[in-house]
Amino acid sequence: MNKRKRNGIEDLLKKVNVVSQEEAEEVDVVICMPDGGPRYFSDDVSAFCASCGIAIHHRPHVPKKPPKVCIHCGLRMVEADKARDGDQPSDEQRAALRARARRQKLRRLKGD
Ligand SMILES: [Zn+2]
Repeated sequence: MNKRKRNGIEDLLKKVNVVSQEEAEEVDVVICMPDGGPRYFSDDVSAFCASCGIAIHHRPHVPKKPPKVCIHCGLRMVEADKARDGDQPSDEQRAALRARARRQKLRRLKGD
């Protein structure tokens, strides 16, 4: 069985950064659920998406400073960020790849 599939949730959780409340205040946006769907908590706070203005709700303890946006606007922002940054390797990664290619070439030339 594919280990990666079996541990899908564990893999996903490895990508989740747990940060302090202070660090959370520095995020770009807080992505919230739009109104209309089920609410899991009766003490959710009602608000409006800072981008498109639709009604949203969030937990009372989310970071106060960052704008709250609906999941649709949030995903659009994440996609726009990805498109802008691209998935380009960093300079360090590029240098490491070049060094590895040089070593492989040397090994081939030496014949081992
Ligand atoms: Zn929105």
